[in-house]
Amino acid sequence: MFIDSHCHINFPELEKNLEHVLSNMQENKITNALCISVELDSFPSVLAVAENNRHIYASVGVHPDYENIQEPTISELVELSQNPNVVAIGETGLDYFRLDGDLTWQRDRFRTHIRAAVETSLPLVIHTRQAQKDTIAIMKDEGANNVGGVMHCFTESYEMAKQALDLGFYISFSGIVTFKNAEELRQTAKKIPLDRILIETDSPYLAPVPNRGKLNEPANVVYVAKKIAELHELPIEKVGEQTSKNFFELFKKCQCN
Ligand SMILES: [Zn+2]
Ligand SMILES: [Zn+2]
Repeated sequence: MFIDSHCHINFPELEKNLEHVLSNMQENKITNALCISVELDSFPSVLAVAENNRHIYASVGVHPDYENIQEPTISELVELSQNPNVVAIGETGLDYFRLDGDLTWQRDRFRTHIRAAVETSLPLVIHTRQAQKDTIAIMKDEGANNVGGVMHCFTESYEMAKQALDLGFYISFSGIVTFKNAEELRQTAKKIPLDRILIETDSPYLAPVPNRGKLNEPANVVYVAKKIAELHELPIEKVGEQTSKNFFELFKKCQCN
């Protein structure tokens, strides 16, 4: 069994063929997936997928790359997270790769999410790109270690992974770990203990090798598992089993619904 800890199957390109996407999951022994919210306007579509499918869970949050949209408030996030299908807060974080200029709003938005997570005791789904220092500093400042969470689609240095691990976070690898030019990331993945690793697709983007460039979907998470198995010199079943266990240990609310 495998779990896709981060996907966007409510996005139109996947949602229009959702039945097919779900049956491909089943065929490839992907037992569960976490459908991640990126803005409040489309949050109902995330929730709908989770409400209509017992094995799909939802998060609530506003992505750091979405500029000039209505900022969520702490109480809004807290209220939306009361739905039994919502098991995490995010995705949230900092992205200095995609955006530049004065990103005070991005840091403020990140703090809002951490405060909502602390208030609800729900884990965080953190997106971080080229903002290592500020991400870790804000996590510490806001007490993110009290709720934990996952550094999703991790592509940063081992040093950053280590700091996140020390704060009680898991590290999630996407299809990028299979890309030819990702040798440094593979070296990092090798050093992360298996009991702190999650696997994800971040679909519809970032399809792993051998499907690189195609539309991605949760079924492809097996290729991520395969690469992690290779790096840790373990059978793929063991990686599937342990990362699934990690998933339920982190997203505890899954077991309540
Ligand atoms: Zn992301
Ligand atoms: Zn995402």
